[in-house]
Amino acid sequence: MTEFDVDLFVIGAGSAGVRAARMAAGLGKQVAIAENRHFGGTCVNVGCVPKKLFVYASQFGDDFVAAGGFGWTHNPARFDWSHLMAQKNREIQRLQGVYQNLLDNAGVQIITGQARVLDAHTVAVDAQQFHCERIVIATGGQPTIPDIPGKQWIKTSNDMFALNTLPQRILIVGGGYIAVEFAGIMHGLGVKTTLCYRSNQLLRGFDDDIREFVTQEMRKKAIDIRLDTHISRIEQTADSYTAYTDQNQAISTDLILYATGRTPNTTNLGLSQLGVELDEKGAIKVNAHYQTHVPSIYALGDVTNRINLTPVATAEAMALINHLYSDRQTPVDYDNIPTAVFSQPNIASVGLTEAEARKRYPHIAVYKSVFTPMKHSLSGLGAQTLMKLVVDRSSDKVLGAHMAGDNAGEIIQGMAIAIRAGATKAVFDSTLGIHPTTAEEFVTMRTAAN
Ligand code: FAD
Ligand code: NDP
Repeated sequence: MTEFDVDLFVIGAGSAGVRAARMAAGLGKQVAIAENRHFGGTCVNVGCVPKKLFVYASQFGDDFVAAGGFGWTHNPARFDWSHLMAQKNREIQRLQGVYQNLLDNAGVQIITGQARVLDAHTVAVDAQQFHCERIVIATGGQPTIPDIPGKQWIKTSNDMFALNTLPQRILIVGGGYIAVEFAGIMHGLGVKTTLCYRSNQLLRGFDDDIREFVTQEMRKKAIDIRLDTHISRIEQTADSYTAYTDQNQAISTDLILYATGRTPNTTNLGLSQLGVELDEKGAIKVNAHYQTHVPSIYALGDVTNRINLTPVATAEAMALINHLYSDRQTPVDYDNIPTAVFSQPNIASVGLTEAEARKRYPHIAVYKSVFTPMKHSLSGLGAQTLMKLVVDRSSDKVLGAHMAGDNAGEIIQGMAIAIRAGATKAVFDSTLGIHPTTAEEFVTMRTAAN
């Protein structure tokens, strides 16, 4: 009999927490997990999954237009938001059940409620207390909005997944993943969409050519993108809202979505008095093994605010549990993590941007291609694709692959394997294409742009 109720207590049943709890239980540990809101966390309930379902829904408008170019006629297409929401909710409910079952079947003790850490080895959930050998905090994050007059009218991504009716007009503020993805979703569903971003180019951190190209392509679709535009206040009018820029331009709209970043969920956990250190944004500081300044307390995923993506959260969970409880060591390699923005056009990227590569390598070659994919030669949509490879001239290694266009996420996943394996440009060149595809362009770009 050990002195502890459980070997591991996990707070938060999102991507990181569920994976950590299941794995530890699978390795024979006594595990409990607490969740205060929804099993599956952000990704399943108000993130990746419902977002991608909305993206699919929003692409059919273009598909109907494209079909015309291939000889199809159809009655005017109509879209029913309440049908989509019901379908989405049904799927999310199913997934919540799947997550609970996974935990149940692994023998994890499930506790519903708000957890607090009382000391280095004690977690409280409501009136219950658990004496734990180790504690994992995987509480994720939540949307954050600036403190401006009228902020009570602002919606966040969480609200977008519970909207009863689709607005006629939307104003989206922000220039990151969520802003750009929701601009595509709303526009695709027929909502007049305006996107305001405070700086001069959307999607900071992505390759500059991709950023510019995507802005152009979104504008071609008639999304009103206003760069260098800062909203200073919001007023409610009779049945809508007016947002004012700091140049005092008025933007009338029916719904205002702020996608201005997320804050780690670290308040109300009782961490400050324990000596668990937080950074200036409230994220938990951890060492290479996800250990906080209190040796029995660990933190994983978005609550550490590093690379806030689901595959990273689950990889971190596997790395920690293997480190603690098995002989296998599976450290996370934070280099060359592929990522996609499910915007329209879709963006995906792995490795260094051209600007990053120029800083790190004295001689680089850039291969770039902007073209009309075969489908769009007849679709009438005028959509183009941009593909780009960044190569180190001295070693010939491909340092980065970037794409904006249909199915970019699907295509870059394979590129990520090649780049992780250290593929050279010569390997790309000697790989035969699959013809006719868009992806074959990655193995046929021969002339460096500079
Ligand atoms: P979470 O999934 O947020 O889980 C934390 C859990 O802890 C939550 O369920 C929360 O309710 C619970 N919790 C918090 N405090 C307590 C407490 N005190 N007691 C008990 N439980 C608590 N990533 C991708 O890779 N691809 C995408 O396409 C993608 N799309 C996204 C779209 C949106 C709109 C958003 C917001 C995010 C998206 N992400 C995407 C990011 C991804 O969702 C997160 O990186 C991932 O969910 C992080 O997992 P996590 O386990 O760290 O946290
Ligand atoms: P991001 O950090 O990606 O973007 C936040 C945006 O808001 C930036 O453009 C930022 O501008 C802007 N901003 C920040 N503060 C203010 C402010 N006070 N006023 C005006 N604008 C402001 O956050 P998101 O909310 O879009 O998404 C959160 C995270 O979730 C992402 O970073 C990503 O890790 C994850 N995610 C992943 C997805 C995927 O994998 N497809 C999809 C959605 C989310 P600036 O650039 O100038 O700082």
